[in-house]
Amino acid sequence: MQVFGLVGNPVGHSLSPPMHEAAYEVHDMNARYVTFEPDPAELETAIDGADALGISGLNVTIPFKQDVLSLVDPDEMAARIGAVNTIDFSGDQPTGHNTDAEGARRALEEQGDATLAGATAVVVGAGGAGRAIAFALADAGSTVHIVNRTVERATSLAAEVPEASGYGLDALPELVPDADVLVNATSVGMEEDVSPVPADTLHENLVVLDAVYKPLETRLLRDAAECGATTVDGAWMLLYQGAIAFELWIGRDAPIDEMNEALRTRLRSDR
Ligand code: NAP
Repeated sequence: MQVFGLVGNPVGHSLSPPMHEAAYEVHDMNARYVTFEPDPAELETAIDGADALGISGLNVTIPFKQDVLSLVDPDEMAARIGAVNTIDFSGDQPTGHNTDAEGARRALEEQGDATLAGATAVVVGAGGAGRAIAFALADAGSTVHIVNRTVERATSLAAEVPEASGYGLDALPELVPDADVLVNATSVGMEEDVSPVPADTLHENLVVLDAVYKPLETRLLRDAAECGATTVDGAWMLLYQGAIAFELWIGRDAPIDEMNEALRTRLRSDR
């Protein structure tokens, strides 16, 4: 049996097990996807142990995405972003990848029908998700405006990302009306029904992705839909990052429809 899993703390309510196990079922694989919550001080032992035990692949989530970078051989994208969310144990050394970046790009292009080459994009947030999304959009050919509550974090990320600039939240009314793509990569909207972006700055020509997936219908996405913008919820980004990890580990096409169904069924039952 092949074993895959998720390392994080906490991981109790993770949506990844049903999503990945739906893919194993489609491909008739003898495989399981399990969650692990190591003590932060034991992270290196946990990764070495997973390798020694023959675990095939691990996803990595908060708070370990940055710390795991030095424990694996990161690919170029993971090294630029400074975070790993997927480890592959199939080679001599564990390799680290960041599928959040590609997951966000595919969510925008495949579900939002966004044309990223030549687009002007506003990314709100400069934490882990914001970093991955800013690099992904810049690599896809967008001009990226990074907006963050802590402005220094936005400007220092913008200095690393090609064709990017950094701002505080007060720049949103100036930037959003001229944008083609808007991404919320903050945690705003998870705990309270509030949006990080003033509703009166939104417009019908925007494609809006909210990385928040609990709840699925955030205040930002409701405001965006109300003015006729195209909306993409955070479960699409989660789905594609998982599908890309599956393809990296298994080398076969991820069954997107079945994985999406399993993910959304779990999200509905968690409500
Ligand atoms: P993180 O590294 O902790 O970053 C949090 C970000 O949110 C920072 O930019 C922070 O700004 C901002 N923020 C927090 N509270 C705020 C507030 N009250 N007002 C304005 N900005 C605020 O977290 P992360 O890993 O990037 O995750 C961010 C969100 O993305 C979470 O909701 C997470 O679930 C989601 N996510 C989704 C996916 C997916 O696949 N859909 C993948 C990864 C993450 P400061 O820098 O000023 O603190």
